Amino acid sequence: MTSENNRPAPNGGEAPEKKNFIREIVDNDLRTNKYEGRVHTRFPPEPNGYLHIGHAKSICLNFGLARHYSGFCNLRFDDTNPTKEEMEYVESIQEDVRWLGFDWADRLYYASDYFGALHEYAVKLIKKGKAYVCDLNADQVREYRGTLTEPGKNSPFRERTIEESLDLFERMRKGEFPDGLRTLRAKIDMASPNLNMRDPVMYRILRSTHHRTGDTWCIYPTYDWAHGQSDSIERITHSICTLEFADHRPLYDWFVRELGIYAPQQIEFARLNLTYTVMSKRRLLQLVEEGYVHGWDDPRMPTISGLRRRGYTPESLRVFADRIGVARSESTVDVAQLEDCVRDDLNKRSARVMAVLRPLKVVIENYPEGKVEELEAVNNPEDESMGKRKIPFSRILYIEQDDFRENPPKKYFRLSPGAEVRLRYAYIIKCTNVVKDEEGRIVELHCTYDPETKSGSAQSARKVKGTIHWVSAAHAMEAEVRLYDRLFNTENPGGENWKDQINPASLQIQKGCKVEPGLVSARAKDRFQFERLGYFCVDHDSKPGSIVFNRTVTLRDSWAKIEKS
Ligand code: ATP
Ligand code: MG
Repeated sequence: MTSENNRPAPNGGEAPEKKNFIREIVDNDLRTNKYEGRVHTRFPPEPNGYLHIGHAKSICLNFGLARHYSGFCNLRFDDTNPTKEEMEYVESIQEDVRWLGFDWADRLYYASDYFGALHEYAVKLIKKGKAYVCDLNADQVREYRGTLTEPGKNSPFRERTIEESLDLFERMRKGEFPDGLRTLRAKIDMASPNLNMRDPVMYRILRSTHHRTGDTWCIYPTYDWAHGQSDSIERITHSICTLEFADHRPLYDWFVRELGIYAPQQIEFARLNLTYTVMSKRRLLQLVEEGYVHGWDDPRMPTISGLRRRGYTPESLRVFADRIGVARSESTVDVAQLEDCVRDDLNKRSARVMAVLRPLKVVIENYPEGKVEELEAVNNPEDESMGKRKIPFSRILYIEQDDFRENPPKKYFRLSPGAEVRLRYAYIIKCTNVVKDEEGRIVELHCTYDPETKSGSAQSARKVKGTIHWVSAAHAMEAEVRLYDRLFNTENPGGENWKDQINPASLQIQKGCKVEPGLVSARAKDRFQFERLGYFCVDHDSKPGSIVFNRTVTLRDSWAKIEKS
């Protein structure tokens, strides 16, 4: 069974990539030979958290462009802030990019590799009179910056001599001043309508051990100072980022122009927002640290590691990235679209099995005691090559509690007193008696079966309206099943009280589930369709003899119905 279920989807599961405005820009640059025919992109995460589905969009875009144009895509860690960054994140990010199906080959870089080069560039700007050491503290810098409607004021240190700035900058580097006492700032224009151009800080004094450079530096470049030069050093052609950086583009262009170095082209696109979840790393970190979820890879998280643990395939995420496309204006994508992608993919590739999540015992009174039949079941009606398997049938079975109603409403085609239903791949049974405990709870059903109705046999022509799944009690394996729902109750969780919008029922743990015996050989990450219930995968919490499944997604979008009514 295990060999049958993680097979690749036909055609790699992917539709042809869609055209988008970025591809048009690249096509045009290739026509005009702007970068000697090169296409070189990068994915530049800051290692201060795990990657999420929004990053997946950016990864698919950047690596996808490189693949499409036979170019290159670098993986670069934007590790300029030593206080928030950790090796754990560096490792998880690499794992996630690889799992998504992309390869940076030998192009793994770190902004911290450029600390030396950035320092030289800074000295060059000071010597040109384009940067100066400023003694204002952080609050004063803010105060002098002005607002969107008012121009800023020049720092009293702006006109200090080049020699003095060079000397002070060198002493900053050597560690002669306490943290935060001075900064290096670009000398641009305090009256610029663009706040990013009002003498932005390039270096700050910060005694913090960096995850790669250790204590070599006590001055660290700001993101705005490091980012564009890192792209330039790597000779990136198309530096793709999200819309909020459009206002930073004039600054990045100013730096490379003043330095006279290679100039990449920045292109902005709209970040992915998804309903019923949050996407900022700061908030995701809070969910983890405050125990709302059980870690970054909790299957309810929109992180790549969470989605992976939940049973999402890399193909489904790539198809999702392609379906939502790339646009220039903000929008929010319905999470149902993401769920559809994984459903489509798993439908094609996952083995069907029978599992009962809330078992109700059924005794087939006219079935011989001790008899066991091996019935034939189809592994995947969508893919004949996945073959068939045998499942045991015997006198005592489990069915789903939901598949029996003592007082059935109209059009209830499952089991009820006196009614008939087909057991999938087996026989038609009829409920003859309902056994209850002292408190009136139903504990078991007595049924009879019609031996003439075995599935696949010549006499099985007799039809009943409903078919339900089941497992043989003596053969079933026990399992724990974790049922996940949306992490938030509101479509666009936000505001001060965003944590109050967490769905308290986002995880329901179902113990004592009964699954068909073939699943004994299932291993972590194996994926299945539990017939009639949804797609499930084996969680890595499983131990020999106690298997745990995660529900990836239900078979149909149950929220669509709820929202309509
Ligand atoms: P934060 O949440 O801390 O603001 P970030 O989301 O910008 O951080 P980075 O590590 O800087 O995280 O992101 C790496 C790359 O992924 C950037 O190029 C960024 O533009 C892109 N990216 C981040 N979030 C999204 C998103 N929601 N949709 C598309 N791309 C994204
Ligand atoms: Mg960022």
